[in-house]
Amino acid sequence: MTSSVTTQHQGRAPGARRAIVIGGSISGLFAALLLERHGWQVDVYERSAGALAGRGAGIVAQPELREALAAAGIGDIGAVGVQVETRILLDADGRELMRHPCSQTVTSWERVHTLLRARFPNERYHAGRELRAINLSGDRPIARFADGSLVEADLVVGADGIRSTVRQQLFPDARLEYTGYVAWRSLIDERSLSPETHRRIFWTMAFGLPPGEQFLGYPVTGPNDDMTPGNLRYNVVWYRPADEATELARLLTDINGRHHPISIPPPLMRPQVRTEINEAAARLLAPEYREAISLLPQLILQPIYDLESQRLAHGRIAIIGDAAFVARPHVAAGVIKAAEDVLSMVTALDEENSVEAALERFEAERLAVGRRIIARARQMGASYKARRPGEAAAPSALDRDYANAVIEDTALTTFLRTAKSP
Ligand SMILES: Cc1cc2nc3c(=O)[nH]c(=O)nc-3n(C[C@H](O)[C@H](O)[C@H](O)COP(=O)(O)OP(=O)(O)OC[C@H]3O[C@@H](n4cnc5c(N)ncnc54)[C@H](O)[C@@H]3O)c2cc1C
Repeated sequence: MTSSVTTQHQGRAPGARRAIVIGGSISGLFAALLLERHGWQVDVYERSAGALAGRGAGIVAQPELREALAAAGIGDIGAVGVQVETRILLDADGRELMRHPCSQTVTSWERVHTLLRARFPNERYHAGRELRAINLSGDRPIARFADGSLVEADLVVGADGIRSTVRQQLFPDARLEYTGYVAWRSLIDERSLSPETHRRIFWTMAFGLPPGEQFLGYPVTGPNDDMTPGNLRYNVVWYRPADEATELARLLTDINGRHHPISIPPPLMRPQVRTEINEAAARLLAPEYREAISLLPQLILQPIYDLESQRLAHGRIAIIGDAAFVARPHVAAGVIKAAEDVLSMVTALDEENSVEAALERFEAERLAVGRRIIARARQMGASYKARRPGEAAAPSALDRDYANAVIEDTALTTFLRTAKSP
């Protein structure tokens, strides 16, 4: 690779404005597709050289997702995911403490990513290209990649996730704040659940509330977007407190005694940790949830962070999605927030006279929304942090107000459409 600056207009409409998107995951692909539909020439630069599909996680598809997909040119796709109509709360003995009607679409990260990725041309999706820094000295930003290549553009969109290089360069004050708890998560093939467990929990959003913890399970699409009953998967997430200095450090230490500061590859997790999780499930969770935990092929440990950037734009550069804000997952707003960040940005770019003015407007609009989501998610996750001696005990399923709030509010974004805050 040479280090001459590429401006990316070879073979494209002369005069069209050029955007580069850093990060080819959900936010980045939404940005690329929407910008393209609004007349931009777009290239996506993704650090990972291989497929991103291995991240597998369940996603609650909020109603706005379908509109956002349609805006990105993905209209006639049939179902986005599968439907659940009911939420249940089971205690450790398997007794049903609550049942609440709630119709929602649940899907998988892969399904949403595949829909988006299939619409964006391969020749402009540059895998294995890691952004190192952005040169800000000229009129237009120049992105510098790990291979030494330089790319100049009229607009740079940082969609590079929770540890965004773009954000760390432009807004270094925005820091990840560990929340005091982790999520254990994974997916199980539908067919591996026993018939009794399947009958009782599979077609529900199923909750367990041991004191200071939350278990959550729901069905998601199967491998390769399969939505045929029988071929689906069950998504399990278990939020558990883990003090940063002691328990989290221990969980992030691998079979060779090496500490991983960010996340631990599942195959390197110590077998003891898996044993402890199974034992805790036997003590704290309903028999159906215990079974689900015991069947998980691998456990993914996800420390939960808050991230709130005070700025989203600098000149011709903007950050969107998880690069800008990361809320605890209880609101399940990450995907639609990313999509709506992009909608706000392209509308402003259409209507304002300059890229800089458009991004200022985008920043003002989206900072407010991001803050509301963060505040709401903090409130919903407040019970799960590791407690210090002397702190009040965490509520449990027996605290009806708390349990009602969890069952009625989790993974719903209706609060964003009301004037009340958070
Ligand atoms: C347990 C859990 C459950 C969740 N549940 C839901 C849910 O139910 N509903 C929902 O809407 N959301 C949910 N979310 C959040 C949702 O997954 C994210 O908000 C969403 O995927 C948006 O991610 P993103 O594209 O902004 O970032 P990411 O998916 O992190 O993508 C960033 C991309 O940038 C690339 N990259 C990073 N650095 C560079 C670089 N320097 N150069 C080039 N490329 C780079 C990365 O490789 C990656 O592909 C959940 C999250 C968690 C943790």
